[in-house]
Amino acid sequence: MTNVSARPLRVAVIGAGPAGVYAADILTKSNEVKDGDVEVSIDLFDQYPAPYGLIRYGVAPDHPRIKGIVNALHKVLDRGDIRFIGNVTYGRDLTLSDFRHLYDAVIFATGAIKDARLDIPGADLEGSFGGADFVSWYDGHPDVPRDWPLDAKEVAVLGNGNVALDVARMLSKHADDLLVTEIPDNVYQALKRSPVTDVHVFGRRGPAQVKFTPLELRELSHSRDVDIVLYPEDFEFDEASDEAIRTNNQVKTMVNTLANWMAEDQDTGASRRLHLHFLHSPVEIYDSPETPGRVAGIRFERMELDGTGNVRGTGEYEDYPVQAVYRAIGYHGSELAELEYDVHRGIIPNDGGRVLDAEGKPVPGVYTTGWIKRGPVGLIGHTKGDALETIGCLLEDRDSLEPADNPDEHAIIALLEERGVEYTTWEGWNELDAHERALGEKFTAESAERGTTVQRERVKVVPREEMVRISRKNAG
Ligand code: NAP
Repeated sequence: MTNVSARPLRVAVIGAGPAGVYAADILTKSNEVKDGDVEVSIDLFDQYPAPYGLIRYGVAPDHPRIKGIVNALHKVLDRGDIRFIGNVTYGRDLTLSDFRHLYDAVIFATGAIKDARLDIPGADLEGSFGGADFVSWYDGHPDVPRDWPLDAKEVAVLGNGNVALDVARMLSKHADDLLVTEIPDNVYQALKRSPVTDVHVFGRRGPAQVKFTPLELRELSHSRDVDIVLYPEDFEFDEASDEAIRTNNQVKTMVNTLANWMAEDQDTGASRRLHLHFLHSPVEIYDSPETPGRVAGIRFERMELDGTGNVRGTGEYEDYPVQAVYRAIGYHGSELAELEYDVHRGIIPNDGGRVLDAEGKPVPGVYTTGWIKRGPVGLIGHTKGDALETIGCLLEDRDSLEPADNPDEHAIIALLEERGVEYTTWEGWNELDAHERALGEKFTAESAERGTTVQRERVKVVPREEMVRISRKNAG
């Protein structure tokens, strides 16, 4: 065994979303590194040609404050002490043995981008969509088809989390009001043609049990020409609700927001409506003789609160004629080659970030952080806590790590080149970033020529081949 401490610790982080960048950053700033006890050399991989993961492919484009996070992540990667290597897919381009061969430790930060399954009849009908898939589409994810069938006038969105809010807002907003954002042109064109008039958001529990956050909820009322519609019969509160309202400021604020919207007359005669329903549990998505195989409506069981904040069925059912259903009931992680996987939770089994084998024992030198470590809950900043814990474990284990056979920093590049992998780099991302910004400037200039004043900071490039081509244009 070679002595790892005689040379920099070679660490690979797989996943360049916030979780991966935070982990890499925290490692470089750890006391052990600052005090000079440990030197590190970190490579940050991503399957996409661009960094930032869910920030680029999961956050709604009309959330500009997210730019603050992008700027912070940019600063970390721009320092030059963490090497970005994009367009490399774990399990296809590189295996776990490759990583073990070239690195002393590997951290999986692959997140969760798939939709959780909804097991009710009709969930697979045409017109029933995963909320996460829709998010990927409107965020210009390179591996999602360019076209999205937006032909429904009435739409149901299932779930009472922030993704349901994003999906409902994106479906109900007028496309022209999204032009100032980064939406790709194909997304703008499709939204522009959408005939939608009514978007219904359904929660299975009550107004005090929503999983929204206050800012995101309030934002719903900012859409132009969209009225919010609420229903008095859905405003049910049990003991647990009262307790939550008393003790949790977020719950109190959101219940007040909803109650105020209901008290004020929200009917301004807008051309689109966004309905918020509570105590509706989906039981079946159905088609009709006129539209066999296609969504024609959705049936809910009316629920009632049971005193603990949970719900039970009342045996009463209600049907809503809709032509599309978006299932925004949570994300789910994806299985990774050569690692154990908890199918139920969609995570890599781990103990505080140490990846576990089938017997529940830590796999030496293999760690995890972010949503693939603890499941898809929490805001972006919460992954910092995860990363701290994981990096703590890695540093604790450092003396017992099995050293890489070939820790040379050039070895990974040589291997990727040998395998013909068109990897991208930080310099490549800067090229693509500049290209997307230039597209934004061009649009702004053309809009000024047409006498409109739409300012676009960026227009995202969507096809993977084009992203790779632009990123690699200066590659040797
Ligand atoms: P989430 O917050 O866990 O919400 C999932 C929703 O789906 C809950 O209302 C849940 O109801 C409901 N649900 C689950 N299974 C269901 C079923 N079988 N039938 C009906 N409803 C069902 O998940 P998310 O919305 O995907 O968000 C994931 C994380 O990302 C959250 O932490 C969220 O805050 C964050 N996020 C933040 C933003 C932002 O702008 N700040 C944007 C997007 C996402 P129950 O509560 O009854 O289980």
